[in-house]
Amino acid sequence: MADIRDTEKSGGDFIESMELLKTWLDTADMILIGAGAGLSAAAGLSYLDEELFKTFQPEMAAMGYHYPYELFEREKENWPEAREWAYNVRHVNFVRYVFPPAELYKKLLALVQDKDFFVVTSNCDRQFMRTGFPMERVFEAQGSYDRLMCRDRCTKEEWDIKPIIDRLLPLIDSETFMISDESAIPHCPHCGAPLFAAIRDFEGYKDEQARYVDWLVRTNEKKLCILELGVGFNTPVVIRWPFERLTYLHDNAHLFRVNRGYREWPGHGGYPMVPKALSGKATPMPYDAKDVIEWLYNRRLS
Ligand SMILES: [Zn+2]
Repeated sequence: MADIRDTEKSGGDFIESMELLKTWLDTADMILIGAGAGLSAAAGLSYLDEELFKTFQPEMAAMGYHYPYELFEREKENWPEAREWAYNVRHVNFVRYVFPPAELYKKLLALVQDKDFFVVTSNCDRQFMRTGFPMERVFEAQGSYDRLMCRDRCTKEEWDIKPIIDRLLPLIDSETFMISDESAIPHCPHCGAPLFAAIRDFEGYKDEQARYVDWLVRTNEKKLCILELGVGFNTPVVIRWPFERLTYLHDNAHLFRVNRGYREWPGHGGYPMVPKALSGKATPMPYDAKDVIEWLYNRRLS
């Protein structure tokens, strides 16, 4: 069976929108990149990948689960802490430490590294840092897997997750899929509440955010290319809607919205891929971010 991507890549629409994107990237004064889960999925780290899930969560796969997206908070609500930590340390260890720095991110960096660019991402996997992006040009709007905070926010103190992973991984009982020694599970030393991923409000978050806002302010009166890669509807308030608003308000900006999965979300079928109000200022690109980045990478010297 032919890969749907081959059909897409040979289509006139694909080439036409790629040429337009390349022209904007080449001629813009500033480049704003928004990256969501679809970018890491295109790089090989998909939270919908059943085969990958079987390799790093074999116990969960044996219990009948298929991929990480099934296991976001609601499913885990009734789990005992010892199960939740077994799952979480496996997940974070694989995504953050076992999975290598992705070639696709490196190619993206090669495309923009000589430009005045900025990245805002909702991804927590730290691929931007791991592939060499200058972190003063990256805003991790949802934090990262690296930091933990007190769930009840009794303190501003943060804890690095790596020593916790190293301590708990060997304690996962593969029969029960629980941490075998519950006393090893970390809690806030001040109030005893569970520790939780530091999504926002962590030390330094405001500084990162301020750098992003300062950069955005500088785009005023500049030619601005906005490239959105694999951003869905999980947290549209972080990238998707602000990018639409910015495109609408900016006199000389163009939004390129790359999202292959868009058509596959029937629940959001009522939305056009780009709003009508952005007619002429936005290009819908229902393609895999991998195809888009590699097309540009292969032509970057021409
Ligand atoms: Zn606490």
